[in-house]
Amino acid sequence: MDKGAAAAPEHVLPSPSQITQSLNNLHKQLPPRGLGFEAAKQHLKQDMAPALNANSQSSRYYGFVTGGATPAAIFADNMVTEYDQNVQVHLPEETIATDVEAAALDMVCELVRLDPTVWKHRTFTTGATASNILGLACAREHIIKTAAARRGVTADVSSQGLFAAMRAAGIHNIRILTTTPHSSLKKAASILGLGHDSVNTMCEHGVNNPYTFDMAQLEEALQTGGRNIATIISVSCSEVNSGLFATDANLMLRLRTLATRHGAWLHVDAAFGLLARILPSNAEYEYLKDGAGELHLADSIAADAHKLFNVPYDCGIFLSKHLDTATAVFQNPGAPYLNAPDGTVPSPLNIGIENSRRFRALPVYANLVAYGRDGFVEMLERQIELAREIAAYIDASDAYRLLPSKYHEEGYNEQTIFIIVLFKAVNSDLNAELKQKINATRKIYVSGTTWQGESACRFAISNWRSSVQQDFEVIKEVLDGVAASSVNRIA
Ligand SMILES: *Cc1c(COP(=O)(O)O)cnc(C)c1O
Repeated sequence: MDKGAAAAPEHVLPSPSQITQSLNNLHKQLPPRGLGFEAAKQHLKQDMAPALNANSQSSRYYGFVTGGATPAAIFADNMVTEYDQNVQVHLPEETIATDVEAAALDMVCELVRLDPTVWKHRTFTTGATASNILGLACAREHIIKTAAARRGVTADVSSQGLFAAMRAAGIHNIRILTTTPHSSLKKAASILGLGHDSVNTMCEHGVNNPYTFDMAQLEEALQTGGRNIATIISVSCSEVNSGLFATDANLMLRLRTLATRHGAWLHVDAAFGLLARILPSNAEYEYLKDGAGELHLADSIAADAHKLFNVPYDCGIFLSKHLDTATAVFQNPGAPYLNAPDGTVPSPLNIGIENSRRFRALPVYANLVAYGRDGFVEMLERQIELAREIAAYIDASDAYRLLPSKYHEEGYNEQTIFIIVLFKAVNSDLNAELKQKINATRKIYVSGTTWQGESACRFAISNWRSSVQQDFEVIKEVLDGVAASSVNRIA
C-alpha cells in the first residue's frame, strides 16, 4: 500500500508559533460581503493547512487510534464529496449508491470471515461510538422483549418506550456487564437512558488484570439477578489503553452459553480489534487470533473503519444478527414516501441512526478493491511488527517500563502486543512530563493516559504508512534523547 501517496510531512505537530499566527488570522466575524472563493481558498491554504496536525499524513503520529487514509480511500472520499449522494433510501433504479454500500459491507464480512447471511443487519456509521449506541439500542429492545416473552407477556421499547416496556416485562433494572470498557460505552448507555452507572466491570484479579472476564463473578451476577434484571454483556475486543483482549475462544463460548440461558445480549466493541481476525494462523498471532476468533458468537459487533481500515474520518461499521430488532428500533415511521421499492437491500434509514447520510461506504469499497485481502494483511502485519519492536526496546530499556504490570509478572510476551504499546518512565519526575517531552520534539506523537493511577504514555500504530525500520529509528532516537535529558538534569 504505497502507491501514489504524497510525501509525509516532517513534523507531526505544527509549531506553536504557527498556531498563534493562524489563530490571529482566523475570521471570527461574518464578513458582510464574502471574500470570494479564491480569497477563501488562499486563506484556508495559508492559514489553516499549516496549523493542522499530521495525525493522518504522518506515520509517526501515534496518538489515540487515528488510522490514516490510503490514496485509494482519499480518491474515493473526494468523489463522495463531489457527487454528494444522500444514501438513505435504497433506490436501485436511480442510483447505485446503496448497492455499493451493500457490496462494501459484504466484502467487510468476507474480509473478517463473518457470514453475511447470518449478520443480516449491516450498516456504516459515523464511528465506533455510534456503533456502540446501535448495539446497546438493539440490545435494549431484545432483552426486554425476551424477558416479556419468558413471562408470557409482550413488551417492546421501540413502541412503548423504556419505562412502560420495562414495567410490562417485569424488569426493574438493565445492566451492562463488561471488563475495562471504552469510554464511549458509558456515553452510549447515557444516551439510551440506561445511565453510566449501568456499566459494571467484572474483572479477573481486580485491578491487576482489568481486561479479562471473571467468569465466576459474572455467572453469579446472572444467577442472582433473577428475572427482574435484564443484562447486556459487552466484550472489549482489544482495549484501547493496552490493546489486550477481554476474551479468548473458550471465554466467548462460555459467554454465549450464559447470554442465551439468561436472555442477555452479547455485544462486542471491536473498534480496532476486528481486524485481528484477518491475521494468518501462526504462533506469532495466536493470542490475537484467539482474542478475536470467536466473535461470530456475539449478537452485535461495533467497529471502526477510520482506524485500521484506513479510510478518512468519519466511518464506523455495525454488524448484528438481528435485522428484525434493528427494523423495530430504527424504522422511520409514517413517511411512506421514503419506502424503498424493493426489499433486497434494506434502506439505511430504517436500520441506523441517521436519515440523510453521507456515502461513506465508497472509501471502504475503494480500499477493499484496491488492496484486497493480501494488502490488508500486509498492512496489519507491518503495524504489529513495529509495535512489537517498540515494546521490545522499552522492555529492554532501563529508563522505561512496559505496562501493564501483567508483562512483568509473567515476563514480557511479545505475542500479547497488538498495535498498542503502553509504557511509563522509571524516573517519576520524567514520567510526570513524559508525554510533553516526547511530543515537544514534534518528531513523534504519543497519547498520555494513566495506568493504575499513574501517568503513562501509549503508542497506537494504525497508519497504513507505518514503516518498521524508518519509524523505529526515529522513535528510538526520540526516546533515547528524552531519557538522556532527564539523566543530565539529575546529574
Ligand atoms: C476508538 C474506539 C471507540 C470509539 O470510536 P470512535 O470512532 O471515536 O467513535 C470505541 N471503542 C474502542 C475500543 C475504540 O478504540
